[in-house]
Amino acid sequence: MQARPAIARLCRDHATLRAHLHRLHLSPDPFCPWCRITPETIEHFLLQCLHFQSHHTALHYRLSALAITTLDLPILQAATPPGNLLS
Ligand SMILES: [Zn+2]
Repeated sequence: MQARPAIARLCRDHATLRAHLHRLHLSPDPFCPWCRITPETIEHFLLQCLHFQSHHTALHYRLSALAITTLDLPILQAATPPGNLLS
C-alpha cells in the first residue's frame, strides 16, 4: 500500500481506526491494537504510536529536508494531497 493514498484516506475519514470504529459501535474498544492504552486516533497512528516509530522517524527526516521541523496533524494533512512527501 502506498503511504500517500493511505494517509489521505485516514485524514479524510479515518474509517479503519479503532477510535472511530468504536464510536460507530463497530469495535469493542477504541484502543490502539499495538499500545492497548491509547485510543487509536489519526494523530496517534500517524505521529505517536511507538509501534510505527521507524516510520515516524523517516517522515520527520523527509520533512526536515523541506525545512518542516514541527510535525503535527494539520501540517501532515496539508502536505499530503498534492505533494509527494509521503510517497
Ligand atoms: Zn499505538
